[in-house]
Amino acid sequence: MDDNSTTIQQLKDSVERFKRDRDWGQYHTPQDLAVSISIEAAELLEIFQWRIKEDMDEEKLERVKEELADVLIYCLSLANAVDVDVAAIVNDKIKLNAEKYPVEKEMGERKKHSELQ
Ligand SMILES: [Mg+2]
Repeated sequence: MDDNSTTIQQLKDSVERFKRDRDWGQYHTPQDLAVSISIEAAELLEIFQWRIKEDMDEEKLERVKEELADVLIYCLSLANAVDVDVAAIVNDKIKLNAEKYPVEKEMGERKKHSELQ
C-alpha cells in the first residue's frame, strides 16, 4: 500500500479491514471517530508548540507525517462509518470554497471571509 497510485477507496478499504480484523467496529462510532480526529490533530499541533523558529528538520518531518497519517486514517474511518464518498465531499467543498473565496477578491488575502466586503 505504499504505491502513489493508491486510490481513496483502497485506503478506505484498508482502514476498514484493519478495524474489522481487530473487532474494533464496536468502538468506532461517528462521535468517537470525530473525537479521535480532534485528538490526533492536537498531537499534530503539539509538534509545533513553543517553537520560536519553524524549521522543518528530518525528525520533525517524520513526526508530522506520522500524526498527519493518524488524522487522515480517522477521517477515512469516519467516512466509512457514515458511508460518504470522500472524493465527492472534498470536490464539493472545494467548489463551495471557490465560490466563497473568488480569486479576484481573495488573492493574497489572509483576512477572514466575513472581514472582507
Ligand atoms: Mg497520533
